[in-house]
Amino acid sequence: MEQNLIKSYNCPYCEAQGTISDETLTQIAAQPLVEAGKLDKDAPLSAHKIGIPIQDPTRTGGLTVTVLLIEQDYCATCGLEYTVRASTMEAPVTMQQVPPPGYPPQRPFGMPPGSGMG
Ligand SMILES: [Zn+2]
Repeated sequence: MEQNLIKSYNCPYCEAQGTISDETLTQIAAQPLVEAGKLDKDAPLSAHKIGIPIQDPTRTGGLTVTVLLIEQDYCATCGLEYTVRASTMEAPVTMQQVPPPGYPPQRPFGMPPGSGMG
């Protein structure tokens, strides 16, 4: 149930200059792999991925939380970084998402997700 939140992939800096670019450095770097058939043409590539849990992991009632995934990459024309994709997805609950000390722990410290203690 991944949902894309951004409709335009164009670089906002280039768009402001009147030279619209939607090509990123990772796309250019991956081009030989795409041509060799080792990577899908539409593979979602990005330089940085930032996952932001937007749901209280103590209130999900399950092993996943809804995460806002923001992907950033570098424009192949001007070299500046911009957001190429933003989407929501379900991700496994991890220790990083569990509230800091002071809250009741959800599982013993160090237990990985999916270990049956969630
Ligand atoms: Zn640009």
